[in-house]
Amino acid sequence: MASLLSVHDLCYTYHTREADTPALAQISFHVEPGEFVSIVGPSGCGKSTLLSIIAGLIAPESGTIALGTDAPHPIGYMFQRDQLLEWRTILSNAYLGLEIRGELTPENKAYVKHLLTQYGLGDFLSRRPSQLSGGMRQRAALVRTMALRPELLLLDEPFSALDYQTRLSVSDEIWRILRETGKTAVLVTHDISEAISLGDRVLVLSRRPGRIVKDIPMDFGPERTPLSVRGLPAFQSYFQEIWQAMTQEGGETDA
Ligand code: ADP
Repeated sequence: MASLLSVHDLCYTYHTREADTPALAQISFHVEPGEFVSIVGPSGCGKSTLLSIIAGLIAPESGTIALGTDAPHPIGYMFQRDQLLEWRTILSNAYLGLEIRGELTPENKAYVKHLLTQYGLGDFLSRRPSQLSGGMRQRAALVRTMALRPELLLLDEPFSALDYQTRLSVSDEIWRILRETGKTAVLVTHDISEAISLGDRVLVLSRRPGRIVKDIPMDFGPERTPLSVRGLPAFQSYFQEIWQAMTQEGGETDA
């Protein structure tokens, strides 16, 4: 089976008038269709830069990115902030991506309404973002992303603005939605527990410039859910392994 995403020997340095900041060094990995890959690393190690390069928002300095799909909009992006527009209703926020691309067809509108209903937002279509809880807003943002039927979802710390309890339940919900729809996802986070609980695999990045220092399959068995694995002994050993890999490497942090 062809990989959905192949990253090969990627390097990136930010050049500013004051300094050159090497952000990523020799990053190579593959993501298979249907996989959920977590990338964890300390703050400032280049995680957002990596996702921006995969999304095509920044051109790599060297190295290549290849996508094994010819879907019209292969990549969807979810950010830390949900970026919902307060002057629009939840429904028209969810339409936004389609509207921008000139694809707001009756069929696509029906699909968006179906997704909103499926994700528990059916009674909130005409509400404004500020009238929803943080978790509901993140689900609305997910619908806006899913409306374009992406095959690969890039998740840039999408739960970090939520309080701890909401964060656990929303990440569990979003994980289930992606699983059920067979989507492929790459999550970046500095939260080791989040990386372990959501990922089929965890790639560990060193401090800046980010390099992959470990690639660990999360072997929790088929019944795993993000919440259930948190209580397992294997969770603790993965945590230790990742913590050591993250802290033992040299390099620089922003902290
Ligand atoms: P992370 O997402 O892991 O916190 P980033 O990818 O945001 O890290 O940033 C990696 C490094 O590059 C950091 O040291 C950051 O300060 C630096 N950086 C990010 N964006 C810019 C920029 N536009 N110009 C210069 N340096 C930047």
